[in-house]
Amino acid sequence: MNGSIQGSGMTGQRARERLIERLRGEGIRDERVLTAMRQVPRHLFIDEALASRAYEDTALPIGKSQTISQPWVVARMTEALLAPVHPAIPPPRRVLEIGTGSGYQAAVLSLLVEQVYTVERIDELLRGARKRFRQLGLKNVATRNADGRLGWPEHAPFDAIIVTAAGAAVEIDLLAQLEPHGVLVAPIGEKDTQVLQRWRNTEEGWAPESLGNVVFVPLLPGVA
Ligand code: SAH
Repeated sequence: MNGSIQGSGMTGQRARERLIERLRGEGIRDERVLTAMRQVPRHLFIDEALASRAYEDTALPIGKSQTISQPWVVARMTEALLAPVHPAIPPPRRVLEIGTGSGYQAAVLSLLVEQVYTVERIDELLRGARKRFRQLGLKNVATRNADGRLGWPEHAPFDAIIVTAAGAAVEIDLLAQLEPHGVLVAPIGEKDTQVLQRWRNTEEGWAPESLGNVVFVPLLPGVA
């Protein structure tokens, strides 16, 4: 069973509704994604000083030079991850995220899939994210402080992998941890010229498809 949110109350509900309508207007079509994002209180994932901006469609700082992704990007990546690979293949059940950050993307995913695994290299950020998962009663998110470029081999294979920091190229270790029908969504490229790519297994092997330009913080080596 997928997760559900507890005790977020009605705070920010109207601002959230407006954000959902905006995302819809900007081309997000998957109602499952819009419904999940309507439920996740994004203001709890950022510093109180910025909470009034939580439902703007913009990335915001979360400390340690990192950012919570722009809602439209979260919606687009989640939609790309859930899109059927083939009519006979069910939606992903077990998903790995690289780059937990605030935990927002993981929380959205937790409402849509059975189990989320999320890896973050900065321990301090991970602690904050874990606290939020507990506070919201999300029981299907497993976390790990490690270099996510190596994936999480102990829990592989995954139906889908989402990378929320930009690397120069797709990580072979990550593709190796996907199911044969799996999908990987990741921003690839340098600082200001990144492309969101979706990798799926075709008859010619793993192949990328471009989903447009994005801006992410870099994927960095090691743990901090
Ligand atoms: N998904 C996040 C966005 C976080 S920004 C959210 O919803 O808030 C990207 C995150 O990726 C940062 O927290 C950064 O520390 C982390 N990151 C960068 N390189 C990484 C790596 N090699 N392994 C794990 N996390 C990494």
